[in-house]
This record gives sequence, structure tokens and C-alpha cells, in this order.
Amino acid sequence: ATPDLSAAGPEGRAARTALALREATAAGDWALLDHPMLALEVAGSPAYLEPDAVVVHPDGRWTVVEIKSFPMIDASADASKVGAAARQAAVYVLALERVAAVTEGAEVGQRVLLVCPKDFSNLPTASVVDVRKQRAVTRRQLTRLTRIEDIAAGLPEGTTFDPACPSEELDAAVAAVPPAYAPECLAACELAFHCRAKSRAEGAVETLGRSVRGELGGLTTVAGVLAAAAGKEGDPADPTVAALRRAA
Ligand code: SF4
Repeated sequence: ATPDLSAAGPEGRAARTALALREATAAGDWALLDHPMLALEVAGSPAYLEPDAVVVHPDGRWTVVEIKSFPMIDASADASKVGAAARQAAVYVLALERVAAVTEGAEVGQRVLLVCPKDFSNLPTASVVDVRKQRAVTRRQLTRLTRIEDIAAGLPEGTTFDPACPSEELDAAVAAVPPAYAPECLAACELAFHCRAKSRAEGAVETLGRSVRGELGGLTTVAGVLAAAAGKEGDPADPTVAALRRAA
């Protein structure tokens, strides 16, 4: 069966999807949900997600289906693209688990079906991808996110990101939010150049990469790192400072 999932607005579509999942699970038959809508709480606010498809198995298992345009050549695809697809599918798994928790007999599969073009042709081929690890990482990251209300509380009164506002007002609003830039942002976010310029101006070590940031411990600015290496600043008992001095 392919239930009709149309409804008004994302909230309505998410409710319709949850109902269709419950009905299909109770029916104990195969069902394909084409572009369902799922809701997930991110930083205290609902985010709406639309997987390509979800399959309901007769035994109550739900499987996420992700359709991608990169090719699968001789049954294998670009590992970084498969990794990105697995991270995306893991978020859908988490969102589905919220519905499964209140649906009798339902269980969300931790293996997703990745559908890609076969060897540059326009024929589809599919591969099963285990997303247990990505699911665990994403779940941990979601629980550690700062709540949106807390971020908003630190902004000047009346700050708005309404695209209809004059550009100076929007500039000021964006400038009021501290960046958390890392080089990975360049491939994923339209604000990357803005955040990179701001982070570089602040001398933030994150601009050099998250792994560098992790290794530098409490040293958060490039100037601080150089001063510690030159022996002008920093606690010599700090192992990072000691390592920098040895290397300098
Ligand atoms: S570039 Fe985008 S993702 Fe990266 S810190 Fe800026 S707003 Fe956040």
C-alpha cells in the first residue's frame, strides 16, 4: 500500500505520516510511504524532515529509503558521499523512533536502504547501509546542543532574521551571533564566508580545523598559541603549552 500523506503545512503532514505509520503497522502488511514528513526536536524547537521514503514491513519494522544521484559503480560508491547519506538517514531514524515509541509493535530498522544510479546508467541499484554509529553520534550531538531560547536570550532586544528586513538590519542581526566556524562549513553553509572572516578576525583556532582545536585544549586563539609557544604566556604545567614550547 502507498498511503496518501497530503495535509496542510509541515505539522499537518507530520501528523498524517504518524497516522499512516500506525495504520500500516497495525495492518501487518507491506507499505511504502512516499516522502513522509517527520518531526524531530532540535535545540528545543521542532525541525521537520522529509526522507525520500519509508517502508513498513509486515513484521512492524520501518526502514528509511534514501535516494541519491551519485553513481554506484560495481556495487560500491564514493565513501564520503555514502557517509554523508548515512548521517542524513540517521537523523531520519531518530525522528522515526519518536513515532515508533508510541506505536505498538513498531521497530525502526538501524539499516537503511541507499538507492543510487547503477554504473552511470539510469537504472537504480540499492545497497543496505548500517547507520547505528551515525545514529549514536547524532543523538549525542543533539542532546548537547544549546537550546535556541538560550541563544536568543543573549541577542540584543528586537533582533530579527526576517528576510523582509532592510539589509543593514539583517547584517547587524547576523553579526550579533557568534560564529562556530570550522572548514567543513564551506561545503555546507551559505554563511561560511561571513563566519570564516569573523572567526579569522578573532584569531579563532577553529579556522584551522576541528582536530587542531581539539589538540590545543584551552588555547582558543592563534595569538594565544604563538605566545604560549614563545614562552610569553600560558601555564608551563599545561601539557599543551609544554608540547608547544618543546616544538617551537
Ligand atoms: S558557516 Fe554556517 S554552520 Fe558554520 S558557523 Fe557559520 S552559520 Fe554556523
